[in-house]
Amino acid sequence: MNRYLKRHIAVLLLAALVTACATSPTGRKQLMLVSEDVAIQSSAQAYVQQVGELRKEGKLSSDRALVRRVNGITGKLVAQAIALRPDSADWQWSVAVIDDPETVNAWCMAGGRMAIYSGLIQQIDPTDDELAQVMGHEIGHALANHTAEKMSVAMATSIGVATVGVASENKGAAMTGAAAAAALAVTLPNSRTAETEADRIGIELAAKAGYDPAAAVTLWRKMNSLPGGQPPEFLSTHPNPANREKTLAALGPQMDPYFEAGGARPTHPVETVAALD
Ligand SMILES: [Zn+2]
Repeated sequence: MNRYLKRHIAVLLLAALVTACATSPTGRKQLMLVSEDVAIQSSAQAYVQQVGELRKEGKLSSDRALVRRVNGITGKLVAQAIALRPDSADWQWSVAVIDDPETVNAWCMAGGRMAIYSGLIQQIDPTDDELAQVMGHEIGHALANHTAEKMSVAMATSIGVATVGVASENKGAAMTGAAAAAALAVTLPNSRTAETEADRIGIELAAKAGYDPAAAVTLWRKMNSLPGGQPPEFLSTHPNPANREKTLAALGPQMDPYFEAGGARPTHPVETVAALD
């Protein structure tokens, strides 16, 4: 192990002593090696870099109808996210629509920076209600500070430490160690409990934004019947499909009053990152 890596681990352990324990909105203890502020800052850095690369590669969507649709739905979800967690009004809410038909995925980083891949639209063919469940779920991860949790996992595992160490040693690297961990974090599966939290928050945001809670069940059914298996964000240690469906179906009636409340639903500006013009 080289000197830089040793020093990096020492810094991480020190950080662990300072901020190791946190509690999620559902009262669960979380492993926290980085603060949420650090997660937000490094996610911003990782997002700017990734979006820049996508733009260079011509992989941002130029589909106006899709971009308008995604923006309209996320705007209503974000308004509810802010109602649930008022400090997130200061976040840089934005959504990148990525032109990548092979990838069935979506994510939301700390600080409200989101992405959705065209493959999710093409292969799942979601209704607006189902698309709201996808983005509501992703926003749920961010509101519950799962980015910092996954960054902590990335840093605490040997592969993560190596990645972060290499990135921080390399003077030419565009990302700092923490930003590299933030970029890595969106590729890591969430824990089962984190998935359940995001499901719970997502279905509520969507219902309050005027989207049918029943769509949560039909969405995950579609996800589970994808030929190549489920996409990374939705994969791995999440609750088994039957349990997830049962839990979401049971939540539905609790959410119905929000959905059925009717009336105009507020919206909040979301910056769109796409290839228009
Ligand atoms: Zn998830």
